[in-house]
Amino acid sequence: MTSHTPFTWPDGQQCAVSLTYDDAIPVHYERVAPLLTEKGLTATFYICAHGGFTSNPAPWKQVAAQGHELGNHSLFHPCRREPEENYSWLSPHYDLCDYSSQRWTDEMRVASCLLNQLDGETDRTFGNTCCHTSIGRGNKKKDLSELIDNMFVAARGPLTHEIVTPQTLSFPALGHFSGDRKTFGEMQPDIERAINMKGWMILMFHGVGEGTHGHYIETEEHTKLLNYLEEKSKDIWTASLVKVAKHLKNNP
Ligand SMILES: [Zn+2]
Repeated sequence: MTSHTPFTWPDGQQCAVSLTYDDAIPVHYERVAPLLTEKGLTATFYICAHGGFTSNPAPWKQVAAQGHELGNHSLFHPCRREPEENYSWLSPHYDLCDYSSQRWTDEMRVASCLLNQLDGETDRTFGNTCCHTSIGRGNKKKDLSELIDNMFVAARGPLTHEIVTPQTLSFPALGHFSGDRKTFGEMQPDIERAINMKGWMILMFHGVGEGTHGHYIETEEHTKLLNYLEEKSKDIWTASLVKVAKHLKNNP
């Protein structure tokens, strides 16, 4: 769906920023979600239901109760194993190149059902794994947008390093930035650009603080970002992906 009328944001705000945190790691519920809540901000936590989450799902109920989104990040974190040597960490059983539409849909439905048991929500967004946006290979390669549209309000799609505007808006394939290894000073100009463009900036993070994940942002830089978003809350609407997507769908 494409709209070319300018975005209108709530309460006279100038832009939206969505912070998204991937892979359901403990620092998210131990430190990140409480800090966001303290500052009056909400975010999306993309939960991969396999791994640590299954042995300790309870803390995520608290995260949801604070108003954050538990986003779907699949059951088994499948990605395209292309080139194979870059994805040695991923079992060949979970190669998106070998997925059918049926298998992808079935697994995402089960993942959403698990999350629904924690948050009671039916409206949810999807966070593409490894930023990959297709299944199958060769002439069977299929873009996920159609399948995503059937199940989700929206999805964080390709890593475009671009601000979402009415011209680039595609709900099942929202372009985003990576915040991993960035300093606040490196992110600030893009946030200011989002204000000037009245656009929507989506940021992807994994860990927060050294040792929390192979990809991470330093704790101090992350705190500086949250402090800035709190200070600028008159101009910047910092909210979960599902909240912003629903707002845009209801105000076309
Ligand atoms: Zn991931």
